[in-house]
Amino acid sequence: MVVKDDTFRVLIAGAGIAGLATSISLRRISDLANLDVHIYEQAPELLEIGASIALSPNGMRTLEKLGVNNALTDEVGYRGPSGIPQIFRHWKTNQVISVDTHNDVPDPRHHTTRFHRGHLHAALLEHVPRESIHLGKKIKRAEASQDRVSLHFEDGSSAHGHILIGADGIRSPVRQSFIPDYKLRFSGKVFMRSTFDVSLIEGKVPDLPIDAMHWWGPRDNFFASRLGKGQYTTVGAYDDPRTAEEVEQSIAWDQKGNVEFLRERYKDWNPTIRALTQLTPSTNLYPNFAGDALSTWVFGSRVTLIGDAAHAHGGSFAAGGSLALDDSLALGLAFKHVFNSPSRPSLSSDSINKALVLYSKTRQPHTARLLRIIHNQIKKRAPEDATFEEEDATLVARMKTRPNTEWLSEHDVETAFAAVINQSTSERYPEQASAVKEESKQGKAVDENIRLQGSKI
Ligand SMILES: Cc1cc2nc3c(=O)[nH]c(=O)nc-3n(C[C@H](O)[C@H](O)[C@H](O)COP(=O)(O)OP(=O)(O)OC[C@H]3O[C@@H](n4cnc5c(N)ncnc54)[C@H](O)[C@@H]3O)c2cc1C
Repeated sequence: MVVKDDTFRVLIAGAGIAGLATSISLRRISDLANLDVHIYEQAPELLEIGASIALSPNGMRTLEKLGVNNALTDEVGYRGPSGIPQIFRHWKTNQVISVDTHNDVPDPRHHTTRFHRGHLHAALLEHVPRESIHLGKKIKRAEASQDRVSLHFEDGSSAHGHILIGADGIRSPVRQSFIPDYKLRFSGKVFMRSTFDVSLIEGKVPDLPIDAMHWWGPRDNFFASRLGKGQYTTVGAYDDPRTAEEVEQSIAWDQKGNVEFLRERYKDWNPTIRALTQLTPSTNLYPNFAGDALSTWVFGSRVTLIGDAAHAHGGSFAAGGSLALDDSLALGLAFKHVFNSPSRPSLSSDSINKALVLYSKTRQPHTARLLRIIHNQIKKRAPEDATFEEEDATLVARMKTRPNTEWLSEHDVETAFAAVINQSTSERYPEQASAVKEESKQGKAVDENIRLQGSKI
């Protein structure tokens, strides 16, 4: 593929939530001239796969800013009638033991919303030109030189452009090309997820709350919620003591699980959960991996990462979808700021690098904070040999010390981006001030020279 000089060719690796949102943001937010976006996706077809995904107010507001209003309707996503984003109940007594609340979310459409991932994905897809998506393109590796970026695919073909955005998920081959020794860590948990028609459980489960519900046990949780388009989800988990390598080799992401195992696992929990597991028709398995924060998000001036590729947090706090959307908005704002500035800079490595640095400064500290919390929580798990009383005590302590996540769920990317711009402007002022000082010193010297030369004449 030849890159024409008058186009701004952007290669996006991966057509997941982050890849599609980035394509939308670059076109609508950055408003770049001659933009030519190409998305490369390994899947041969974009099917409605996955299970449930939640978006917090930050993600819902970002969808609106991106113009993806079709995802804000009550048909596509589900918002519980209480307006409470997270309700936590005790696994055995079914008592409410904690709640999270929205702090400053006046528009109910921005309340925490639960989707089938396929429906959210399809809503984004409506805003992306289909001809820009190249399916069946499994990326093997990525490269960057001074003036271009390249993706090399397993089918032997390659694509070239000016900018590369790795939106290729938690196991990102783009990230791996630039940080070959980056390793994910297995959290020790495997999630058993299921989505099915709500009619399978309606009227058949005692005390079933209408809102989404987390039941907390000493070791595992159970989650159940309605989703948009008449779907329902249940999510359980189990501990897997094996190493990351062993789990990688034996459980594929989205692999079919054994629903009897889910039922057995939760057989001592309260009757509502027992009934839900009995009615759950099947499960799929999702081993939970997470990775450390990256030291940089910018590689060779022209490459960056977005979504799970940039922050491999493994879905904790149900933040992955919202973070991916916020990343895409921040990237659009950064390109707008640099390339739509009055000086209209050319498509040089320097100006591209400047936009990518502004993007990473907006997003990297925020996501690194989340990764720190997640890794601390993984370390703090109850020991394997803990007695039941010790485990219940740990549960109570965990509820008491549960971190407030409003900084995450109500984060405002535009404000964060404005703060980065303000900071970099004030950092530039001292330079400008010292440059002015230097100039005036030189000016005085020149004036003095002229005066002396003049006196010689
Ligand atoms: C099939 C699937 C189902 C999921 N289901 C859920 C779910 O039920 N609940 C939930 O909370 N999260 C789920 N996730 C993860 C969730 O979508 C992300 O955590 C979050 O939305 C951030 O999105 P992302 O675009 O960064 O990553 P992803 O959504 O993982 O998207 C990454 C994209 O890159 C593509 N890709 C990966 N490797 C290559 C390669 N070598 N070459 C080309 N393309 C590649 C993938 O096929 C995918 O389309 C799922 C992800 C996938 C891919």
